[in-house]
Amino acid sequence: MHNIAILGAGIAGSYLAKRLSEKAGVQVFEKSRGASGRLSTRRGEEFTFDHGAQYFTARAEQFLLFLAPYLKSGLIQGWSPKLITLGNGRSYKRQWFEPHFVAVPGMSAWIKEMAAPLPVHFDCTIHSAERRDAKWFLHDSREQIHGPFEMVLSTAPAAQTAALFPTLAAPLAGVRMQACYAWMLGFEQRTVAWEAAVVQNSPISWLAWNDTKPGRGGPPALVVHSRNDWAQDHLEDPSESVQSELAQALSECAGIDPSQARFSQLHRWRYASTATDLGKPYLLDLASGLAACGDWCLQGRVEGSFLSAYQLAEFLLQGFD
Ligand SMILES: Cc1cc2nc3c(=O)[nH]c(=O)nc-3n(C[C@H](O)[C@H](O)[C@H](O)COP(=O)(O)OP(=O)(O)OC[C@H]3O[C@@H](n4cnc5c(N)ncnc54)[C@H](O)[C@@H]3O)c2cc1C
Repeated sequence: MHNIAILGAGIAGSYLAKRLSEKAGVQVFEKSRGASGRLSTRRGEEFTFDHGAQYFTARAEQFLLFLAPYLKSGLIQGWSPKLITLGNGRSYKRQWFEPHFVAVPGMSAWIKEMAAPLPVHFDCTIHSAERRDAKWFLHDSREQIHGPFEMVLSTAPAAQTAALFPTLAAPLAGVRMQACYAWMLGFEQRTVAWEAAVVQNSPISWLAWNDTKPGRGGPPALVVHSRNDWAQDHLEDPSESVQSELAQALSECAGIDPSQARFSQLHRWRYASTATDLGKPYLLDLASGLAACGDWCLQGRVEGSFLSAYQLAEFLLQGFD
């Protein structure tokens, strides 16, 4: 039986593990306490926020087929918010022209269900990997060693994958990922009619009332996302100064005063979205038993991550026959 280690329990890692465990022994290593990666949901007091991915679209047939049972069970549902564009002192209604999906009751619920039957080591950060006698051994931050593994598949963001596996650094050098600040604000009441807003000409790019998404409810919970290039320029700024700039922008674009919030928490995503992708579905070095995949291979985003993992799984499963 092939013995495979997978780094990361986001959509790419969880899907790979689910598929490969049909024909291989699989262990997943995840540095967080739960599965979901950037499809995450955070609770703060009585408020709930999807502070990573807000929704996803599905265009490829393979992705639509994969989603079908989750759509049937209601774990994935369509989302059609009252949507507007804000910016330059103007606002106007807008519409989406294709289905937008969310997991219910939070974005993380989908990946948590996918990962539930899988052997995942949570709270386990892999900080180095060692190749010995044609096998891989993984060292975690608690000085535990895991292995031997015939193959390691990394779904960590490109820069983190390159740091762990220096032989992949050259092919990954062209991949560029950008940051995003997510500011989570909990209010007594919602003072605007819109449920989500695309924001232009502002440090803010997106606003969503999380409680209005399907199956959520609870008190008004606003997710504020910064623009990626703005976050990149302010990556090392103190959080007070980031919040103060975002507060001014929020007041200017939406007339919302964050000092009225009962709950406030800022999260910095260092590797949120993909500005330049790898341009192919995955990286594979069969001779050294190493592969990498994820959203940064194919256009970023949830569907890109799925397709990257799907194509790597298809290729590897052929070789396992
Ligand atoms: C703020 C924000 C907004 C977004 N909005 C959207 C959107 O609206 N629509 C959309 O389609 N996409 C959106 N995205 C992108 C989407 O979330 C990602 O494309 C997708 O979730 C990536 O999944 P993944 O499995 O490839 O990577 P990840 O979800 O990042 O999974 C990688 C996992 O690896 C783990 N890991 C990393 N290093 C190690 C290590 N050394 N040891 C152990 N574990 C490790 C991480 O903890 C993580 O769980 C957004 C992302 C962010 C952050």
